[in-house]
Amino acid sequence: MSTEFVSTIGLEVHVQLNTKSKIFSAASTEYGAEPNTQACAVDLGLPGVLPVLNAEAVKMAIMFGLAINAKIENNSIFARKNYFYPDLPKGYQISQYEIPIVSGGSIEIETEEIKKIINITRAHLEEDAGKSIHDLFVNETAIDLNRAGTPLIEIVSEPEMANAKEAVSYLKTIHSLVRYLDISDGNMQEGSFRCDANVSLREKGSIQLGTRTEIKNLNSFKFVEQAINFEIKRQGKLLLNNQNVVQETRLYDPQKNETRPMRSKEEANDYRYFPDPDLLPVEITEETLTKIRENMPELPHERKTRFADQYNLSEYDIGILTSDKSLSIFFEAILKERDIDPKFTANWVITELLALANKHSINPQDITITAKDFADLLFSIKNNEISSKQGKSVLEKMWESGDNPSSIIKSAGLSQISDEDELNKLVDNVLKNHYKSVEEYKNGKEKLFGFFVGAVMQESEGKASPQIVSKILKNKLKK
Ligand code: ADP
Ligand code: MG
Repeated sequence: MSTEFVSTIGLEVHVQLNTKSKIFSAASTEYGAEPNTQACAVDLGLPGVLPVLNAEAVKMAIMFGLAINAKIENNSIFARKNYFYPDLPKGYQISQYEIPIVSGGSIEIETEEIKKIINITRAHLEEDAGKSIHDLFVNETAIDLNRAGTPLIEIVSEPEMANAKEAVSYLKTIHSLVRYLDISDGNMQEGSFRCDANVSLREKGSIQLGTRTEIKNLNSFKFVEQAINFEIKRQGKLLLNNQNVVQETRLYDPQKNETRPMRSKEEANDYRYFPDPDLLPVEITEETLTKIRENMPELPHERKTRFADQYNLSEYDIGILTSDKSLSIFFEAILKERDIDPKFTANWVITELLALANKHSINPQDITITAKDFADLLFSIKNNEISSKQGKSVLEKMWESGDNPSSIIKSAGLSQISDEDELNKLVDNVLKNHYKSVEEYKNGKEKLFGFFVGAVMQESEGKASPQIVSKILKNKLKK
């Protein structure tokens, strides 16, 4: 008899908030500065300094809470989480433990198989630690403390995802949400959005969750998916051989596509959490809440509904256009620039622009083509100034050079010929040169029509407008 196992996943997501200054100090949070130039006495926890809570970070955490319909605690507490690590010079991290600012709430996720609600346990405010850099010097580790004190929200999910695909959908939904709320840039390469994945297996039919492992610090959707799938397989093999899964923290190695133990929970630190005596409870009044609620930006699901009402687009198109905030903004900016059909615009954005972005591994928010240039390109295609095929190559040139479409069309001599007099002459020429075929056509061989269009196109070196050529040909070939 073979036992069947099912997997369970719970995620802890760390989101860096995009405040200008740190959560407890006035130091800048700007990414990419010279190492150790942006950590001040407060971030380092030097004696005699006191933390002052950044109200902007609190507001952002509340916005997140409201967006997921969570409870906002009106007296949440900051606690010290004590542990020693070289990138944590204070010896403790300020976090929230017993009473987090956000509790409960949920989001909806969607995979090819399923739509479902994932409940969120809590989201709390905390400070980031510094960064240990292991690949800068041989046999030595460098420490950059610029990141110390950067505000984070840690979002903890219930263990309710059933596989890697659901986990990725959960992450993408949260990622999109924080970008819509404009509380984080969500930049995964820079570590603004990272996640720990908890994975366990249990026998099918059993209600009790199995022993879990926690894979730390995953910073791409692809790695999350691969790490979870590896871990499910690894645990499955152990259980089938009647071995136990050890509860431990593991690291994912993308090069080898495997997870390895980092430290086990048995030897885990006792963090000796206690309320930070330097910080008062975070008091949030009804008035503050109301003000934040009234100023909430349009959320992803709201934008979806509005797009469905406003534009005649398929659910698929709307799903893609609204999956990313900047993409949805780009789409609407095009329509504002020019009077172009939304469906035609959506097609070009989704099949051509996003394909280019994918090819160059560029995120939608980093696309540099402007809505105006893109609108002008679509306008030229719609007006038969250039063919769609030419449009695609103009778009590629726009991507590479940053030039506007009209100058590319001009300098490449691409402009489509749509002048009817000129096209009439071309057509007459072709019909004269192929008078035998014309005879055959008139005697019923109607499939020759395409041949005539092709011949005119060739004669014009591909510049004739196929639509107008067809129209002229139909007239001239009438029996
Ligand atoms: P810790 O603070 O030690 O990481 P938590 O109880 O806060 O532990 O859980 C952290 C995350 O682990 C949560 O997202 C939760 O959903 C997930 N989790 C807890 N138990 C399991 C389990 N058996 N299988 C999968 N995920 C789990
Ligand atoms: Mg954890």
